[in-house]
Amino acid sequence: MQKCKNCNEQFSWTKIYHSLWWNYKPIHCNQCGATHKVTIPSRFIFVSLTILPMVIFANFLSPFNNPFGTIGIALFILVIGSMLTPFCVRYKKSE
Ligand SMILES: [Zn+2]
Repeated sequence: MQKCKNCNEQFSWTKIYHSLWWNYKPIHCNQCGATHKVTIPSRFIFVSLTILPMVIFANFLSPFNNPFGTIGIALFILVIGSMLTPFCVRYKKSE
């Protein structure tokens, strides 16, 4: 998982997760205060692990005939996918 580019402090999962959901809010290192911004490829990773699988499931893969079952599983996919994203996204130090 992402570490501070300045002092190598490990960012917490929660910190990265919140950053992603708050429109890729920059992360400040607890240790040295350096600001980190999400990289552009990481934005695609975030979308392709959350929104994309949910949309694909809802449109093509759903075994349910009722929309509530589909929405329930689609939200479940969104939650599981988003929980994996802090391990996949990368941040770069910003001045
Ligand atoms: Zn730091």
